[in-house]
Amino acid sequence: MRTHQHRSPVTALTTVRNLGILAHVDAGKTTVTERILYTTGTTHKRGEVHDGTTITDFDSQERDRGITIFAAAVSCAWDGHRINLIDTPGHVDFADEVERALRVLDGAIAVFDAVAGVEPQSESVWHQADRHSVPRIAFVNKLDRAGADLDSAVASIRDRLHTVPLVVQLPIGAEDAFRGVVDLVRMRALVWADGADAYEEGEVPERLCEEAARRRRLLEEAVAELHPAALEEFCVRSELSEETLTGALRDLTRTGEGVVVLCGSAYRNRGVEPLLEAVVAYLPSPLDVPPVRGVLDGAVQERAADPQEPFAALAFKVNATATGRLTYLRVYSGTIRKGETVLDATTRRGERVGRILRVQADRHVDVDAAVAGDIVAVIGPKAVRPGATLCAPGAPLVLEPPTVADPVVSVA
Ligand code: GDP
Repeated sequence: MRTHQHRSPVTALTTVRNLGILAHVDAGKTTVTERILYTTGTTHKRGEVHDGTTITDFDSQERDRGITIFAAAVSCAWDGHRINLIDTPGHVDFADEVERALRVLDGAIAVFDAVAGVEPQSESVWHQADRHSVPRIAFVNKLDRAGADLDSAVASIRDRLHTVPLVVQLPIGAEDAFRGVVDLVRMRALVWADGADAYEEGEVPERLCEEAARRRRLLEEAVAELHPAALEEFCVRSELSEETLTGALRDLTRTGEGVVVLCGSAYRNRGVEPLLEAVVAYLPSPLDVPPVRGVLDGAVQERAADPQEPFAALAFKVNATATGRLTYLRVYSGTIRKGETVLDATTRRGERVGRILRVQADRHVDVDAAVAGDIVAVIGPKAVRPGATLCAPGAPLVLEPPTVADPVVSVA
């Protein structure tokens, strides 16, 4: 029996991650995105930034293909999860677009350069993400570069971003000899052989045992200081089990009290698989974030991420493509089916949704319906503008931008 056919859409929502990648220009956002698409099997060839074959960046090849050049969100599958990667423009000129992207994503990877550490742009986008209470994990990239230094990058995360870095990996080998990491949560070595895309897991090398134990201890102490249940276990056993540590790291990520730090070299495709594992383990699903708020007849309403609620979605990007005028939606509540007419609460116009598309790196996949929590593109709406709310005609409301005071994350 194939169980996924029997799973309710609400249960399936726990396997969705609406994810953004935030970075200073040149830190490696494009390369990380590219490797995620490659690692998840969305693309079958590794694109290289310098040879013009990357899938998510703007270039003439993509203009010819006419799809991903404009993709505001790309879906990929990983370990039973659907990851919707939402594009967050790195350039300050697109501040409105960044704001809208931050509104629709539930979590983000912040990418830093292991030589430069935290740079001004990453600092400003980090604080923007703070205002939207977007849970984040950090990826210190380019560990293969001469001068790469994880510890000083971590120090700059602590000092410039005013957060508590929770470093969960110890690099194995440095600069050109960077080969893998010790996973400090599971105390296992993950090593990439030359040219390999997948890591091989093994014992922590003897010469690193002491240092790995020391760093695991630092991680446990940092976590216990912030997390009451972890503190209790730490006091009783003077160490943390893998289970407690993982649970505490997830909670601290979601409250924003700490940031899990991973490292690697996206260019060499070392570290991307553990990064995806961390996305699934620590970042929230649409069900883990509080109900979105909207205004209906002057009164504030809440809409839960439930397919049975009245339909409400935010249009966060509109693109003219060869396939048609694509309106990208984050569905917050309810269900939308192909052929239905919805209300644009901003223009008060009815808009018919002719097609619903899931955008993958190299193709559009037609689907019949989209439910709360999902990110899709629709074709049909003619006058919807970015920032507009689309809703069920019988239950109109305008989705409110979250305010700083909103408790955006709840921890079970
Ligand atoms: P973006 O501007 O943040 O999208 O950064 P890119 O992904 O375009 O990368 C900027 C430059 O850094 C490119 O020349 C990449 O090839 C290079 N780069 C990206 N990741 C790595 C890495 O892990 N190691 C090294 N040495 N270079 C990298």
